[in-house]
Amino acid sequence: MTPLLTVDRLVMRFGGITAIDGLSLEVPRGAITAIIGPNGAGKTTLFNCITGFYRPSAGRILLHEDDGSERDLTRLKGHRIAREARIVRTFQNIRLFGGMTVLENLLVAQHHALAQASRFALAGLLHTPGYRRAEREALEFARRWLAELGLTAVADTPAGALPYGTQRRVEIARALCARPRLLCLDEPAAGLNPRESAELNVLLTALRDEHGLTLLFIEHDMSVVMNVSDHVVVMNFGRKIAEGPPEAMRRDPEVIRAYLGEE
Ligand code: ATP
Repeated sequence: MTPLLTVDRLVMRFGGITAIDGLSLEVPRGAITAIIGPNGAGKTTLFNCITGFYRPSAGRILLHEDDGSERDLTRLKGHRIAREARIVRTFQNIRLFGGMTVLENLLVAQHHALAQASRFALAGLLHTPGYRRAEREALEFARRWLAELGLTAVADTPAGALPYGTQRRVEIARALCARPRLLCLDEPAAGLNPRESAELNVLLTALRDEHGLTLLFIEHDMSVVMNVSDHVVVMNFGRKIAEGPPEAMRRDPEVIRAYLGEE
C-alpha cells in the first residue's frame, strides 16, 4: 500500500549544527509509527519540518493523497499543513490555553470552520443560520471526542486546573478536533503514571483501529513503543539507523548500542 507520507533525503541545519542529515522514511497509512532515538537525535526537529514549523534546508516531504496524487509539503506554511494536509501535532511541553475550559480549548481547534462561517459577521449577519450550524457542529464534534477520551466530566473545568495526565489527554482531544489525517504526538507518555500510560496504549490503538487514523509518535517510554507501534524508526545523529517491527528493533545490535543500551 502507498504510504501516507514520504520524507525524502531531508536535511535541517541550524548554523553549524546538522540536526537532520539526509533522513528518508515512509509513514505507512492507517498504522502507528514510533520514532525513537537518544536525546538530540533530531526527532522533534523532524516533527517541526513535517508540520511546517521549520523550513527544511534540503529534501522533500510528500503527502500521498487518497486519489494517488502527491502533494509536496516541503515549502508549505504550518497553518496550511494543518488545514489542507490535515497533519496535526501535539508538543513535548503541554500548550493548552490554561485559563480556558477544556471544551473551549477544543472549540479553538475548530476556529477555521467557525471563522469561515462568520465571514458574514463583517456584513452584520453574525447570527446567520450558516454560522449557527457551524457552531453547533463544532460543539457536537468536540463533545464526541470528549466522551471518547473520557473527558466529559471535566468539559467545563479550566484546562490549567487539571492534573498533568489529564491535560495531556486534553491535548490529544484538541488535536483530534482539527480532524487530522496524520496525528503526530511528541512524547505523549512523558510524565504519565503507569495507569495513564496503559490508558494511552488503549487510546492510540483505538484511534488506529476504530477511527482509521495514521499516527506518528516520538517516545522514550519503550513499553508504549513496544505495545502499540506497528513500525519503529530509530534515529541517531539526525539519521535513520534502523527501522522495522518493534520486536526486531529491540534485538537490533546497533539500536541496542545507540539507544536501548542506555536504558
Ligand atoms: P529529545 O529526545 O531530547 O527531545 P530530539 O531527538 O527531539 O531530542 P531535537 O530536539 O530535534 O532532538 O534536536 C536535534 C539537534 O538539533 C540538537 O543538537 C539540538 O540542539 C538542535 N536544534 C534543534 N532545534 C534547534 C534550533 N531551533 N536551533 C539550533 N539548534 C537546534
